[in-house]
Amino acid sequence: MAKRIQFSRTGGPEVLELIEAEPSSPGTGEVRIRNRAVGLNFIDIYFRTGLYPAPSLPSGLGTEGAGVVDAVGEGVSHLKPGDRVAYAQGPLGAYAEYHTLPADKVVVLPDGIEFETAAGCMLKGLTVQYLLRQTYPLEGGETILFHAAAGGVGSIACQWARELGVKLIGTVSSREKADLAEKNGAWATIDYTKEDVVERVRELTNGEMCDVVYDSVGKDTWETSLDCLKKRGLMVSFGNASGPVENVNIGILNQKGSLYVTRPSLNGYADTRERLEMMCNDLFGVLESGKVRIDIGQRYSLAEAAKAQEALAGRKTTGSTILLP
Ligand code: NDP
Repeated sequence: MAKRIQFSRTGGPEVLELIEAEPSSPGTGEVRIRNRAVGLNFIDIYFRTGLYPAPSLPSGLGTEGAGVVDAVGEGVSHLKPGDRVAYAQGPLGAYAEYHTLPADKVVVLPDGIEFETAAGCMLKGLTVQYLLRQTYPLEGGETILFHAAAGGVGSIACQWARELGVKLIGTVSSREKADLAEKNGAWATIDYTKEDVVERVRELTNGEMCDVVYDSVGKDTWETSLDCLKKRGLMVSFGNASGPVENVNIGILNQKGSLYVTRPSLNGYADTRERLEMMCNDLFGVLESGKVRIDIGQRYSLAEAAKAQEALAGRKTTGSTILLP
């Protein structure tokens, strides 16, 4: 028997239960992983609340983790028991001591990358990889606005943008978060609880505004974000921390300067084994070179998953948060 988190109905953090269950055996093309560290992500909250429907209930939760291959199903050739691995996609159920998933979603970890680092960056770091390197291939010299710059995704984005020579303006809700984002390489920060974001962006850019806005806050920031763009700039709406953006009149893109908009996801970019490996090579490269470091701001036990999610939703966390099984 082994511990895992499950939920039988959608709702608040209280719906998460710690149960004991027999870990499932890997089927054809699958592997079972003994997790050493599990990543906590905002998407886990969307599944728990029902904003994103789980395929069935009761359901496991979580898609990011790192550990050791424990058992291998038929037809798997690139992994063997004992391999150190990590993953960020596949079925819900990473909040567990053991997780069984398709082997083609699992990558071998370079020796220099620890389990906690991997669990803190597989989903968030691959997201930053596609946002900065693919959705808009930044070349250096651009000015971008990145919301939640002291969060899990944001902390990695600040460092990677600095490495690319990009001026990242980060939004944050406190002085402490501003300090953290700046330490990570944000060119400037805006405390949206005290300052007008559009006006500050105008000042900081001498009226030029931003080439790209990366907005994971959603409902609360949609219009502000559009107002921070240059003519023909790109709005990347990639999350819903404040709720989803709904009922958009496409004419607003014309009114605010012939803007572009995209709503991307990791699964839409890491959609083949080849693309997943290319993105991991890029991420592992910046980690191994020391250009990007993963700041584990909080650690919780698996049993404290509800408490950890409350902290994430309550804007109490910085950097990445991991659960230790
Ligand atoms: P974070 O660590 O960034 O936590 C969320 C942060 O968002 C908070 O700390 C807070 O920072 C800010 N925030 C602003 N408004 C709210 C609000 N109403 N409620 C809660 N937080 C708010 O989380 P993650 O790194 O896990 O994820 C960041 C975002 O990226 C999420 O929206 C997530 O869904 C999205 N994402 C999207 C992916 C994709 O492929 N599309 C993949 C991975 C993540 P502050 O206090 O400074 O405002």
